[in-house]
Amino acid sequence: RPIIMWFRRDLRLADHVALTAAVATGRPIVPVFIRDAQCDSLGAAPRLRMGLAIGEFKRALRGINSDLVLRSGDPLAVLRDLIAQTGATSVYWSRLYDPAQKSRDTAVKSGLRAAGIDAQSFAGHLLFEPWTVATKTGGFYKVFTPMWKSVRDRDVGAALPAPATLRAPDVWPRSEDLQSWNMGAAVRRGARTLASYCVVGEKAAQTRLETFIAEKLAQYTVQRDQPGVAGTSGLSENLTYGEISPRQCWQAGMRARQSGIAAAEDFMRELVWREFAYQLAHHSPHILTRNWKPEWDNFPWNTDETAAVTAWKQGRTGIAFVDAAMREIYVTGVMHNRARMIAASYLTKHLMTHWKIGMAWFADCLIDWDPCSNAMGWQWVAGSGPDAAPYFRIFNPDTQLQKFDPAGHYAARWLCEGRQAPSRTALSYFDMVPSHWGLSPQDPYPAPIVTLAQGRARALAAYHAREVG
Ligand code: FAD
Repeated sequence: RPIIMWFRRDLRLADHVALTAAVATGRPIVPVFIRDAQCDSLGAAPRLRMGLAIGEFKRALRGINSDLVLRSGDPLAVLRDLIAQTGATSVYWSRLYDPAQKSRDTAVKSGLRAAGIDAQSFAGHLLFEPWTVATKTGGFYKVFTPMWKSVRDRDVGAALPAPATLRAPDVWPRSEDLQSWNMGAAVRRGARTLASYCVVGEKAAQTRLETFIAEKLAQYTVQRDQPGVAGTSGLSENLTYGEISPRQCWQAGMRARQSGIAAAEDFMRELVWREFAYQLAHHSPHILTRNWKPEWDNFPWNTDETAAVTAWKQGRTGIAFVDAAMREIYVTGVMHNRARMIAASYLTKHLMTHWKIGMAWFADCLIDWDPCSNAMGWQWVAGSGPDAAPYFRIFNPDTQLQKFDPAGHYAARWLCEGRQAPSRTALSYFDMVPSHWGLSPQDPYPAPIVTLAQGRARALAAYHAREVG
């Protein structure tokens, strides 16, 4: 009797706990991906990236005597249908932890079990499942550093090998065609350009990790903050779709640390920020939808799609670091972490705009979009989140650019107005923007829509005048 392996954000063969358990039974395995409402509600860039991940994973499964059955619809109904067609008696999957996925999975599990199906979920998306990390008093961590200290030396076990082959079912159930899902449809601008920046699939992710450890890790402590230097791993998109496991990254960091590379500790700490985001979303799910600290509900955020917000989205604020960042995300689907902090800070402080507006734009643009890391990142910058940067500490994007991009590489890569020989990447932005935005590389660089001094003074005045906090 086959086992249905329901894949979601775990599109890999190695270090896959649920798949390893399925293989160990010796039974045939029917891998399936279900395009459900949650998949359809993804933003444009993450949906395109998800489509690329699915295509690559299907190829990988075909390489080991298997396949990926593609179906659309309500997961419980689809799984019931597949059970009827294949005679499967078990359904396995890897657990996810954000509220929407949790409630869907809980309903699927009870629905299947009520029908006598062996429905089992397994770990794999995180290093530490949220309920395995607790403070001394039994609560969850609301501050990062104590959580990091409590897990930094934890044994996470060895990564599991990929199965050499999967036992196929006697008859494959019908599969839909990935092309017909049109996963890139919502990316109305240069989908091909965006796709060319994606590094897709398990093999590519492994190579990326190895190259990062061998060539970049030693300088990571300094270079990870420099947006003009490719000094970070770039693995967030792969972790998002599960093309690599966090344990494989952690083990690589641990080995490097043991071999005396001090910066390995910093890389491992960043991996724990992702864990922190997940345990916050698990224990306080409102972090995804409203101010984590309710006193921020009284803050006079702008919640409208103003001209300033449009300028921010279009990379036309007149503030170089912010504009470079916003063009980078539009063209490549990623944005350097320091640039994320600066762009988010300018929106929430100088433009006093609600972090939810920025969060939604990132959710539409990021190929590494992750509901928990995105929400935590925005609330951290805005000051409304747990362990957040205080609102009154306002980044100055100009001094930040001088400090972290002293040679001007990042600005040159993304800004072209007024430059003698603009870079190809800077020009590519203008190829991608829709014509109704009316932008041209020949335009003069815009004057600041809000100057840094004005924006800062206004934000601080609002902060000091608000009723609570
Ligand atoms: P590396 O420096 O190589 O770090 C290794 C891994 O650690 C990353 O791949 C990522 O999984 C994790 N990590 C690093 N920094 C963070 C962090 N601050 N928070 C959580 N995890 C982290 N990250 C996402 O994966 N998806 C998002 O949607 C997302 N939105 C963000 C929004 C804002 C406003 C901010 C400030 C940060 C956001 N981040 C998000 C976190 C961070 O910017 C990215 O994870 C990082 O830039 C990815 O680059 P990298 O893989 O080269 O990171």
